[in-house]
Amino acid sequence: MCSQNPANGYFCRPVRGLFVEFAALNMKIKVTLPDGSVREFEPGVSAMDVARSISEGLARNVLSAKVNGEVRDANRPLPGDCTLQLLTWNDAEGKSTLWHSSAHLMAEALEALYPGTKFGIGPPIENGFYYDIDLGERTIGEGDFAAIEAKMKELASKKEAYVRKEVSKADAIAYFKEKGDEYKLELLEGLADGEITFYTQGNFTDLCRGPHIPDTSFIKASKVMSVAGAYWRGDEKRKQLTRLYAITFPKQKELDEYLVLLEEAKKRDHRKLGKELDLFTFSEKVGAGLPLWLPKGTALRERLINFMKNAQERDGYEQVATPHIGGKALYVTSGHWDKYGKDSFQPIHTPNEGEEFMLKPMNCPHHCEIYASRPRSYKDLPLRLAEFGTVYRYEQSGELHGLTRVRGFTQDDAHLFCRPDQVKEEFIKVIDLVLLVFKALDMNDYEAQISLRDKVDRSKYIGSEANWEKAEAAIIDAAAEKGLKTFVEYGEAAFYGPKLDFMVKDALGRRWQLGTIQVDYNLPERFELEYVGSDNARHCPVMIHRAPFGSLERFIAVIIEHTAGRFPLWLTPEQAVVLPISDKYVDQARQLSASLKDSDIRASVDERNEKIGRKIRDAELAKTPFMLIIGEKEAAEGTVSVREHGQGDLGTMPVKAFTDLVHARVTAQLGGL
Ligand SMILES: [Zn+2]
Ligand SMILES: [Zn+2]
Repeated sequence: MCSQNPANGYFCRPVRGLFVEFAALNMKIKVTLPDGSVREFEPGVSAMDVARSISEGLARNVLSAKVNGEVRDANRPLPGDCTLQLLTWNDAEGKSTLWHSSAHLMAEALEALYPGTKFGIGPPIENGFYYDIDLGERTIGEGDFAAIEAKMKELASKKEAYVRKEVSKADAIAYFKEKGDEYKLELLEGLADGEITFYTQGNFTDLCRGPHIPDTSFIKASKVMSVAGAYWRGDEKRKQLTRLYAITFPKQKELDEYLVLLEEAKKRDHRKLGKELDLFTFSEKVGAGLPLWLPKGTALRERLINFMKNAQERDGYEQVATPHIGGKALYVTSGHWDKYGKDSFQPIHTPNEGEEFMLKPMNCPHHCEIYASRPRSYKDLPLRLAEFGTVYRYEQSGELHGLTRVRGFTQDDAHLFCRPDQVKEEFIKVIDLVLLVFKALDMNDYEAQISLRDKVDRSKYIGSEANWEKAEAAIIDAAAEKGLKTFVEYGEAAFYGPKLDFMVKDALGRRWQLGTIQVDYNLPERFELEYVGSDNARHCPVMIHRAPFGSLERFIAVIIEHTAGRFPLWLTPEQAVVLPISDKYVDQARQLSASLKDSDIRASVDERNEKIGRKIRDAELAKTPFMLIIGEKEAAEGTVSVREHGQGDLGTMPVKAFTDLVHARVTAQLGGL
């Protein structure tokens, strides 16, 4: 079984019946390709045959195929007239297919090296795949990785086909009983007869819904990355298995490049740089996943917060403040208690019988109550309530990671309550705000994902058809008007409304989801929010959740790694360093640094008894944006000699000219704010 979530429907329905019918009638099938062209083929043709009919070169790169929206083995016969997209390494789903197939290959290697190994689940993940295995008494460590990689390489070169087979539940159970793999047997319990498939390559057979690559020769380079413990089915009460992470590539060169990138990512790791830059720390006593912000980190946060506050003020937001806890009834009303209550921090009890509070997991319910605190008219809308609200969400300790997965974090949250006819305009404004943030942080490579309802099944969505149509159109129009590069995902909308997410590529080409804008029809209804319309009737407002940074913690982690700790001038902890030429000028240097502080410029003094050349070199290495050199001439004239990092000498200028220069740069970076 390959996916952790057997409910997410990778299973392919048997199509043999349909195929026979087509064959009997000797009808050609029509295949619609992504460019809209339609080609005709004999029944029984596979996606791979279609690829070959286009070019052999293409066929060599096809990993799987999307048929009528479903990812399938490229070698399976097409089910009749269909839309077809051939998936290669350049498609996320193609990568996924290669990695999922590689998990099977690694399992085959492990079984060959360590007979008796039992297998849990082995899904593809964002970068590669893992397999959870039970090695019995044996353990494996980094020293074993090379042998596993070598075995994978040997098996891959055999060009073994991945063969799909539908099996009855009884036969499947018999197979894994014989093999003695209790994990697969347990997974089988959750599957119905008629939906069970096996995939076999070489000597290894797995319970799996597929899809897979045609054969193992597509896997050209393998690297086992790490080993960790993982509880069976994520349950701390069950057995701890060994989780082996690995990644594979269709070319050796791609693996080599990936390893270089990883090295660079290690250097930029925000946990490492956060320590070096003195930004934040963690304490076991305070608790895992609860970051402590140090003075420099706090100042950096404050700069981000002030930037956002200024932008929001310009856009008509109003700041509110709400407590860190809320009565349990609040979350029963919001629905969070039902949905997440069991997996959250548990209620706080008071000496009063029956009084229960929850740590705030999100700010929205509190803001709904602010909206409801007085009658609202259509003229009051939109109402934009903003709060830098700190929220708490329980995460398993194994899931915690630096600042990107924490248990307490601060959102730059706001909720826009508006009329249905105002959704588009509000979206445009929020998009502008998100783009302002990206510009200020030098994030220039992004696209927007628009998540809409499933095209066919609309049963799970709440809210009226008319409102959904209006909101979906509003998002699409707003994104188009702003000239965003977008892609639409049908079926990815939340049950309570459509949304727009920005996918940002960082300096290492990694994708981060930032700046979600989400329409919500659910909470206003649950909280019975209303406004009096121009028709004097009562209406339910539309609620929009938005947080351009998302959480300050995660956002700061992203910008540390994106900038390698070299923040833009407006944000960086130290904008300038004053370098006295000798001890004689230290006093003047200190005075200069103090006067810069009065002009809102952050500067320190290098008071070391070093030669000026050495001080300049060190400041260049530290990548401090500006170096201000003070010697006899400067001290006498009240000027500074300015060097810019990476630019060199800017000449001697009055102090005022330098502060003007910095202020002008900062204002430009902040889009005039
Ligand atoms: Zn599988
Ligand atoms: Zn919200």
